[in-house]
Amino acid sequence: MSNGFIISADWMIGSARRPATPDHGVRIVDETITDVGPVADLTSRHPDDPVHHGRGQVLMPGFVNTHVHMYGTLAHGIPTGEVPSGFWSFLNDYWWPKVENALDQDMIEAATDLVCHDMLRSGTTTFYDILEAPNSLPDALLVEKSVVDRHHLRGILSFEATQRMGPANARAGLDENVALIEACRSDPSSIVEGSMCFHTTFTCDEPYILEAFALAAEHDVFCHAHCNEGVHEGLWCEEHLGSRTMEFYDRIGVAGTGFLASQCVQMSAAEIDIIASTGVRVSHMPLSNCEVGGGIAPVPEMLERGVTIGLGSDGYINDMFAVMRGAFLLHKARTLDPGAMPAPLVLHMATEGGAKALGLDRVGSLEPGYAADLQLVDAEFPTPITSENLADQLVLWRNAEHVGDVMVNGKWRVRNGEVSGADPAALRAETRRQAERLWS
Ligand SMILES: [Zn+2]
Repeated sequence: MSNGFIISADWMIGSARRPATPDHGVRIVDETITDVGPVADLTSRHPDDPVHHGRGQVLMPGFVNTHVHMYGTLAHGIPTGEVPSGFWSFLNDYWWPKVENALDQDMIEAATDLVCHDMLRSGTTTFYDILEAPNSLPDALLVEKSVVDRHHLRGILSFEATQRMGPANARAGLDENVALIEACRSDPSSIVEGSMCFHTTFTCDEPYILEAFALAAEHDVFCHAHCNEGVHEGLWCEEHLGSRTMEFYDRIGVAGTGFLASQCVQMSAAEIDIIASTGVRVSHMPLSNCEVGGGIAPVPEMLERGVTIGLGSDGYINDMFAVMRGAFLLHKARTLDPGAMPAPLVLHMATEGGAKALGLDRVGSLEPGYAADLQLVDAEFPTPITSENLADQLVLWRNAEHVGDVMVNGKWRVRNGEVSGADPAALRAETRRQAERLWS
């Protein structure tokens, strides 16, 4: 008796780096893909395996969202009073006092539950979350972990440590990350992991940043920070630290492969050089960069230099199809080049590129030895599908509601568009109740 099974579909994109193939599939044993090929070959090699064939569907890797703030959902539509006049005013007059500082664990739990549901429903199987809620310590990450475990998502969780609330809170932020890393390592049933994270150069000083990187190295995890999300941080660094942000990180010796730098919107040529030459990994958030008036990140320029870049939603619009569309369109407009950011490259950034940015080797592609993280998406397009056009069809004309089935680590989590064991109306109602508390 075999314990393997075959999942196939009318079309498959095993890796966004290769053309789509008709009537292909994967064989899965437990949580791992063990074989890949044409359906006929798979069924003849594994005649006892049950076969699930997605008729009218495309089989592809689950999305990797490299930057989420799940709590951000609670602020969708929150009244801002006066419109912020720039990135600094967005943070200082609105986001910090009205959102982050007011969050408690009940709010975080409700938002986590809803966003995990919504991510699964829209084909995301792996994500990296950054919790910014200084008054929710300690153990806010353990609250998140238990919810993410229940949804069986591949989550990497972190707390954005900062010195802006004083020394005790700064210490508690770093400790929160270490506690979660250790909790995840001692829980073999979980596919949740921890990482290290601090806010920015303008809320954290050099010794604090060095300590965060040292703790990350000690625990063998990456260290994350937001970097140059708008013009503010680079100018602040020039004025207070005597150089641009990434030049400062390079000078203190932390620019390297263990650093995940998010945003990287307003970058000088010298900063791009440092990222490319030291191996800093980057997370790109095309839609939220627009929201905060940050600008358009030099992503084609960084890709040209071989930088590892994944896509993220920033907790703003969490549908990765919409995020891909933003990345596909924005850079064409900025560079005046319709050939910039072709769809397969965007799809790669939303899958395997994102996995590489998060340091995950066997995620983001459908290959033997890779984790069985996949999705089946409606492929009933009004125009013919070809090996060459399927990535464009998906990036431009598909959305969350076209995702039919999702598997994470060998377990079906979504069937026929419904997340197992979840009541989306109840999740929305609870999040709305917690949002009303936050807003008041
Ligand atoms: Zn962010």
